[in-house]
Amino acid sequence: MRLFTRFLKRNSEHVPEPAGSSSGSEAGLQLLLDQYGHVVESHGGQRHGLTRFNEGAPRLLRDYLIPGSTLALEGVPADWVGHSLDLDFQGAGQLVVHTRGWLEPHADGWLLRLLDITDLKLGTQQAHSRQHCTQLSLSMTEQLRQCSLERLPVVMLESLQRVAQHWHVPCVALALRDDAQPGWRLYSAFNAFDAPQLWTTGQMIGAELNSYSGVQRLDLQRQATEEQLRLDSLFGHAEGLRVPYRDHCGLSAWLLFGFYPRSAHSTLMSESDWSQVCAALAGPLLARLREKQQVEHRDRMESLQGLLGTGWWEWSPGDQQLHVAPQLGSSLLLEPGAHSMPREAWLALFHPADRDELSSRFNELLEHDKGMLLSVRLHQPSRIEPPQWYRIQGQTQGSGSQRRIVGFMLDVSLIKNQQLQADAAHARLDNLIASSPAVIYVQRYEEGALLPAFFSASLQPLLGWALEDCTSAALIEWIHPDDREQYFERTRQLLRDGSARARYRLRDQRGNYHWLLDEAKLLRDDLGLPVEAVGLWLDVTEATETAERVKRSEERYRVLVEDSPAMICRYLPDLTLTFGNQPLATYLECTPAQLPGINLGSWLSTEQRADFVQRIAGLSPQNPVSLAEISLQLPGREHAWWVWSDRGVFDAQGNLLEIQAVGRDNTELRRSQQQLTHSAKMATLGEMATGLAHEINQPLNVMRMAVVNVLKRLSNGDVQADYLQDKLTRIDSQIQRAARVVDHMRVFGRRSEIEQQVFNPHQAMEGTLALLAEGLRGKGVELRSEGLACSVFVRGYVDQLEQVLINLVVNARDALMSKRETDRDFQPWIALCAESVGNNVCLWVQDNAGGIDPRLLERVFEPFFTTKPIGLGTGLGLSVSYGIIDNMGGRLSVSNTGPGARFCVALPVVEAGGLLEH
Ligand code: ADP
Repeated sequence: MRLFTRFLKRNSEHVPEPAGSSSGSEAGLQLLLDQYGHVVESHGGQRHGLTRFNEGAPRLLRDYLIPGSTLALEGVPADWVGHSLDLDFQGAGQLVVHTRGWLEPHADGWLLRLLDITDLKLGTQQAHSRQHCTQLSLSMTEQLRQCSLERLPVVMLESLQRVAQHWHVPCVALALRDDAQPGWRLYSAFNAFDAPQLWTTGQMIGAELNSYSGVQRLDLQRQATEEQLRLDSLFGHAEGLRVPYRDHCGLSAWLLFGFYPRSAHSTLMSESDWSQVCAALAGPLLARLREKQQVEHRDRMESLQGLLGTGWWEWSPGDQQLHVAPQLGSSLLLEPGAHSMPREAWLALFHPADRDELSSRFNELLEHDKGMLLSVRLHQPSRIEPPQWYRIQGQTQGSGSQRRIVGFMLDVSLIKNQQLQADAAHARLDNLIASSPAVIYVQRYEEGALLPAFFSASLQPLLGWALEDCTSAALIEWIHPDDREQYFERTRQLLRDGSARARYRLRDQRGNYHWLLDEAKLLRDDLGLPVEAVGLWLDVTEATETAERVKRSEERYRVLVEDSPAMICRYLPDLTLTFGNQPLATYLECTPAQLPGINLGSWLSTEQRADFVQRIAGLSPQNPVSLAEISLQLPGREHAWWVWSDRGVFDAQGNLLEIQAVGRDNTELRRSQQQLTHSAKMATLGEMATGLAHEINQPLNVMRMAVVNVLKRLSNGDVQADYLQDKLTRIDSQIQRAARVVDHMRVFGRRSEIEQQVFNPHQAMEGTLALLAEGLRGKGVELRSEGLACSVFVRGYVDQLEQVLINLVVNARDALMSKRETDRDFQPWIALCAESVGNNVCLWVQDNAGGIDPRLLERVFEPFFTTKPIGLGTGLGLSVSYGIIDNMGGRLSVSNTGPGARFCVALPVVEAGGLLEH
C-alpha cells in the first residue's frame, strides 16, 4: 500500500481524480471483468493514472497491458484463478506502472484486484545495478593493483573501456593533477569507436576542474558562468558527467563522462555509486603512481649513493648489530649479502690508526647522544696508495623506544687525497720560498705610496735585514745611488701598468751591494683600485758579474778577431755569412757591416760549391774541424785561392748550428807552384822543339852549301851573275835568319847541353833593334833607345836574351797598335834602355800604350794567359821569357808607369874576366 500511495503522489499532477467518483477512496485498482475477460468497470484511486478504462466499448484486459512487457494472458478469466498476476500498464508519459494482483469471482463476472509494485521493482533494479557496479569496481581495482607498472596505462584504458561499455558512455576519461604545472592532465581517455574524439590521453586541461562540486551532471540549460562555459567547452558543449575523487592529498582525480545524457541511469546510479566507480579507478591508480615515484626515487637515491660512494648505516641496540646500505657494503668490500655486523667487525674495517678515535666517538654517540663526525681510512693492507677515506656521520633520532642511531658514510678519498696533496705542495712551496735565493715581498698601497708589508724568510739570509728595518725610506736609502732613478721608475710603471720589472743594486746589512732582479705585480680590488703589490727579488749578482766578465772577455776576443791578419768569419750551414772581420771585408772590398747576409756560395763555381757543401756536411761533433784549399771567383777579379779552416758548432742533439772559419789568401803561393809546374812543362816543350830544330837545321845546311857552290860558279864570270848573286845573297840571308829563329826555339832544350857564356847584353839589344826597328818604323812607332852601350857582362845565352827582348818589344807594339785603333792621333813609342843597378844590369822595355789592368798584372806571366783574340796570341811569350831569364839567374818583372807598361829584365853582372869575343 505504501508503494501504491507513492505512485499516486508521483502521478497525481498528471491524472487528477474526477469529481464524484464513488470508488476513488479505495486504494489500488479493481477491475470488473466479464467471463470473457472484457473490462466492464474500473475502480480504485489508481485508475486515473492509467489508460482510461470505461471509455467506449469494453475491451479485453490484454488490450490495456503493455505488449510484451508482461506475461501474456492466455484463455479466459476462469483460467487465471489461483495465479498471482503481474500486469504492466502504460502510465502517464513514458512511465510504466507495474502491478500485481489476483482474481476472485464477483457476481456473474470476475473481480481483478491489483496493487502498484512499481517502487518495489525499481528498488530491486537499483540493488541489482549497485551490485553490478560494485563487482565491476572491485574487478577493475584488482586489475589496476596487480598489473605491472609498465602495463598500468594499458590496464587503465581497458578499465575505462569497460566503464564506457557498461553504462553506454561514448567518451570516458580520467584526469589527474599535473605534477609539472598547475592544472590537470588526462591520464587516460577512451572514446567509443563511433563517438567523436572528445578527449585524448595526455591532454592538458586548465584549472576548470579545480573547483570541487561533487558529482555534477552537466546540461545545456543552466545559466552559463565563465567557468561553466569553459566546462561546456571541455565537454564538447554537450551533456556530461564529472565525478571527483578525493584522497588524503585533497582533490586528486576526476572521472569524466562525455556525451552522457542527463537522464541516463539517473534512477539506477546514485552519486555514491559514481563515486565508488571513480574511486575504484583513481584510488589504485594514484597508489600505483606514487609507488612508481617511490621506486624511481629509491632507484635514484641508490644510484646516487653508489656514485657518491655513500650510504646509510644504523645501529640496532636490540641485536647489537650495525646495518649498512647494500651499495655501501659493496664499496666497503663486504661479502655480498653481509650487510649487518657486530660493532667490532665494523671497527675492524678501518685503519688501526683511526680505529680508537672512531670507537670512542661511537661510544659517545651511543651513551651521550653526542653527534659523531670524523674522517677515517679503510684498512686495506694489500693496497699501497692512495688510501680510501670515509667521512662518517652519526646521530640519534627520537627517544625511548623510538630512539634510533643512524648515520651515513661518504667516500671522501678524492677530496681527502687532494687535500693531502695540496698540503704537501703547500709545504714544499713554503720550503722552496724559504730556501730560494728569491725574496717574496708584499707592498701595501697607501695614497699613492707602496709601503713594505711582508718579506719572505729568505730576506734575512740574503740581505740581513728584517721586516722592521724595511721602511719605505730605508729601502730607498739602501738602493745604490746610481740605480735609484730605476727604482722610482719601476714604482711609477707598476702603478701605471700593473706590472714592472727592474734591475738595481741593494745594500745588505754588511754594506755589500747585491744586484737584484725585481719582478712585481699590482693587485687591485673589485673597483680596480690598487690594494697591494706582490713581487720578488732575485739575487742576480753573480749572473750580472759573470755577464760583465763575459762581455769584457768577448770584447778582447773581438779585438783579436778584428785585428787578426787572417780572414775570420761565421756562417750558417746554408753558407750565409753572419759575421766577417775586417781583413775579409778588405779583401772583398766592402765594410764588415756589409758582410752578414752574403752567401759564400756566390763566390764559388758550381763544382766548388758542391764540394764545399759536401765537406761541411761531413762535419760532426766528433770531427768538427775541416781544412781545405778553396778557389774563389770574385767578380771582375782574378782567381783567388784560400786555405780555409772550418769548425762546426753543434747543439745538444748534434745538429750543425753554424760554422766558424779562418782563411788565408794562398793565391801567391799557389801561383808559384803553378809556375814551377809550368817550368817543368816548358822543359818538355823545349826538348820537343830541340828535336824539331835539329830536323829543320839539317836541310837548311844542305841548302846553304848548295847556294854557296852556285855562288862560287857564278863568280867565275857569268853575265847574269849580278842579278843572280843579288838574289841568292838574299836567299842566303833569309835562310840565316830562319836558322836564327829556329835557334831561338832550340834555346829551351839546350840548357844542359851547352855551357852558358859571358856576354855583353848590349849585343842582344842590338840584335833586337836590328830585327824589329825597320818594321816598327813602318808602323809609325817611334823607337827610343839609350844607355845601350853599357860595358857590363852577364852570363847566359845571348840568343835567348835577344828572344826575350824581341818578345817584349813585339808585345809593346801589339798594345800600341790596339790602342791606336781607338785613338788615331795617338803617338806610339817604345823605349829600350839599359841601366846598372847594384850588382844587376836592368834592361827596360817601356811603351805608352796605357799599361796592364792592375788585377791582371801578375797573371801575364801565367802560361797561356792572353788578352789577344783567339789565333793571334798564344799566351806563351811572357811565360817562356820568364823561364829563360830565371834560367839565367835573373828576374823578369812588370809594372805600370805613367804612360804604359814597363818590363824589366834584371840580370846579375859577372866579372869580365871570362869574356869571350863574339
Ligand atoms: P801573347 O803573345 O799571347 O800576347 P804574352 O805572354 O806575350 O802572350 O803576353 C801575355 C799578355 O800580356 C798579352 O796578351 C797582353 O795582354 C799582356 N801584355 C804583354 N805586354 C804588354 C804591354 N806592353 N802592354 C800591354 N799589355 C801587355
